[in-house]
Amino acid sequence: LEERLLHSQKMEAVGTLAGGIAHDFNNLLTAIVGFTQLSEQQVSALQNAFAGSAESDRLTELRQDLTEILKAADRASLLTAQLLTFSRRQTVTPSRVNMNGTVHDIQRMLRRLIGEQVTLVTEACEQPLPVMADSGQLAQVVVNLVVNARDALPNGGVIRVTTRALDIETSSDAPWPGLPVGQWVLLSVQDDGMGMPPDVVARMWEPFFTTKQLGDGTGLGLSTVHGIVTQAGGHVYCDSGVGRGTTVTIALPRLAHTFEAVTEPALIAARADG
Ligand code: ADP
Repeated sequence: LEERLLHSQKMEAVGTLAGGIAHDFNNLLTAIVGFTQLSEQQVSALQNAFAGSAESDRLTELRQDLTEILKAADRASLLTAQLLTFSRRQTVTPSRVNMNGTVHDIQRMLRRLIGEQVTLVTEACEQPLPVMADSGQLAQVVVNLVVNARDALPNGGVIRVTTRALDIETSSDAPWPGLPVGQWVLLSVQDDGMGMPPDVVARMWEPFFTTKQLGDGTGLGLSTVHGIVTQAGGHVYCDSGVGRGTTVTIALPRLAHTFEAVTEPALIAARADG
């Protein structure tokens, strides 16, 4: 109980501190990203015009620098998103979301975040995986897990993002102790990186717990994941060992296929046509 109180006190503190700053900062970041992208386009046009000349190399360098700015801005956006979630400034609008769709939609952003040395493999199951969640928050969960996996692979490697449906009928079916009987949607992010010793695994979900250097980590990534998932009625689990890599799995309650699912606008239109 004491631990939980400390946890919620810490959350409270971050919320008050960060809410206002994160909100304004996010607007500034939008300007940074927008103008950098515009500059990148201009430089790219100049590169074409000056192709083969002495200026060409300098323009290539300039373009690389702009790409670095964009990468840093991506990371900063991630951080402000985490802070906004913490401060509960972000409006949360749960709706019926297909987990496979979420993973699909953010693939490009994930590839940009992990860089070229790391390979991203996504294995989505065939059937739709409907859950009740805020789609932005769900995306944030996946991004946070993938960024951690990337950080565990400084020399490159493979990150595997897998989704599947799982029905647990008796507790012996559970993939980890503590996942109750029920119908679940599972999402796993697996890396073959450095892994964690047991004392890190024990503390990884705590706010502000980080083993990374100042500037590289805030210790808010996994506590954000934990908060979002548990608030949506889900569970989190981590399997990790030093030198063995890490698999973090989240489980969210799977929604039943209801009649609503077939009254989507496209289908209504199709029926009207037919
Ligand atoms: P941050 O990434 O900012 O440090 P997190 O809450 O996301 O904060 O993670 C807390 C700590 O858990 C990390 O500092 C790291 O030590 C450990 N960790 C999380 N994910 C992984 C992973 N995939 N591989 C190895 N260590 C991890």
